[in-house]
Amino acid sequence: MRVDPDVLEAVHTRSYIEALERFCASGGGPLDADTVAVEASWDAALRAAGAGPQVVRMLEDGGDVTAFLAVRPPGHHARAAQAMGFCLFNNVAVTAALLTAEGSRVAIVDWDVHHGNGTQELVWNNPEVLYVSAHQHPFYPMTGGIDERGGPAADGTIVNVPFPSGTAGDAYREMTGRVLLPVLRSFQPDWILVSAGFDAHADDPLADLRLESQDYGQMAAALTEVAPPNRIITFLEGGYHLAAITASVSETLRGYAGRHDRGQGPAVSPVGAFEVISRLERSLR
Ligand SMILES: [Zn+2]
Repeated sequence: MRVDPDVLEAVHTRSYIEALERFCASGGGPLDADTVAVEASWDAALRAAGAGPQVVRMLEDGGDVTAFLAVRPPGHHARAAQAMGFCLFNNVAVTAALLTAEGSRVAIVDWDVHHGNGTQELVWNNPEVLYVSAHQHPFYPMTGGIDERGGPAADGTIVNVPFPSGTAGDAYREMTGRVLLPVLRSFQPDWILVSAGFDAHADDPLADLRLESQDYGQMAAALTEVAPPNRIITFLEGGYHLAAITASVSETLRGYAGRHDRGQGPAVSPVGAFEVISRLERSLR
């Protein structure tokens, strides 16, 4: 379903939306160094942005489904008036805007290996939206430090976990138990939206983290401990190794169903990863 224009305009400027439509209608081309659109991108972007609101309605109507939205283009780098990093519209922020307009509290969990700079900007000063991102740092797009915590009306609603190169599942399990779950329990979201990139996988060619597919299943399972029933919506973001994405999506879905692989990988993360977790714990107190 194509996104409602009013919902889209709650997140993106009208001038950007209109310029993107014209750009695609004229055949498209490069929007920045790594973001390209073609004529069909316009319709694809409208449908990607509309998928979240569509599934919100299904779930609110009592649907008992695992909502995994394999949408393209992805969204978490898209800014209010700028396409960026393969992203045209910020799909997860559009869904969050719809939900907060209805009075819901929304947590966005972003486990893509890149920081979701667009999402962070779009929810920066909104106390009704919690944004938690674990990502490689320093790395594209260079944002996402611990000290980025939200605007004056929403201090502490941005929680960045900037992991060094080489971080693996052992540190993600620590982070889930010591940062992610406590923050989610304290915020008490009505909905959890997941920006699920799978480019932190060890096989991914674009990044340098070392997750295995079962690590995603374990994070997904953890989210079910804090989300109300049928209130998790998962959006596909990045991921550039097809076999790794396939296995990781499968484990994610098994995690939501409580049928994930509970194996613990080896302890191999650099000590810096655990220092990040300890610093975060202190700053959250
Ligand atoms: Zn990514």
